[in-house]
Amino acid sequence: MASPSGGGKTTIIRQVMAAMAGRGWPSYFSVSHTTRAPREGERNGVDYHFVDRPTFAAMIERGEFLEWAEYVGNLYGTSRSAVEAQRAAGADVFLDIEVQGAEQVKSRIPEAVSVFVLPPSLAVLRQRLEQRGKDAPAVIDKRIRVAAKEMARYPGFDYVIINDRLEEAVQALDAIVAAARCRTARQAALAERILADFRAACVEV
Ligand code: 5GP
Repeated sequence: MASPSGGGKTTIIRQVMAAMAGRGWPSYFSVSHTTRAPREGERNGVDYHFVDRPTFAAMIERGEFLEWAEYVGNLYGTSRSAVEAQRAAGADVFLDIEVQGAEQVKSRIPEAVSVFVLPPSLAVLRQRLEQRGKDAPAVIDKRIRVAAKEMARYPGFDYVIINDRLEEAVQALDAIVAAARCRTARQAALAERILADFRAACVEV
């Protein structure tokens, strides 16, 4: 899932994951590594794994990232092993990442579902970034310039959600998750088990 910084994707993902938990659908939020300094209130290992540049560079060297990208002067990356372990355990894995990273994931995992979250307008994006109150005005300006470039890449994504009203954006992502879980390839093992019963009962199929 990608969007410009401040597009609201973290909030949407968290709410969808809570709804999934209520249905017993396992999900996992991938905690990224970043060289960005922690913002006030951010916790290491919860919001991000905060690392210095040499550590990040060594991880790139060892091939430990599923994807990584530079964004507004900082490096961000998704740990390959954590994602693989969760997928193997049957969890739906959510990545809250920017556009370049999402494109890398899609090329490496073609069955990944990519979702672009668009803010409803420039004014709303600016207001959200300012209200967050965690970035200096110059950083906000930079993030808005980057956002304009990122938003132009929405056609490469499977889905686009316009985050005008949060509740509707959450419903939209929830529906996308439900549809992805019903894909034929994903249901094949279960469908085969059901069919096996019919075959065992000598019904011709
Ligand atoms: P922020 O500094 O506001 O937390 O994040 C800046 C941007 O980097 C956001 O669009 C966020 O989704 C993205 N981002 C966070 N983690 C990753 C990651 O692991 N990989 C990539 N490519 N982008 C990330």
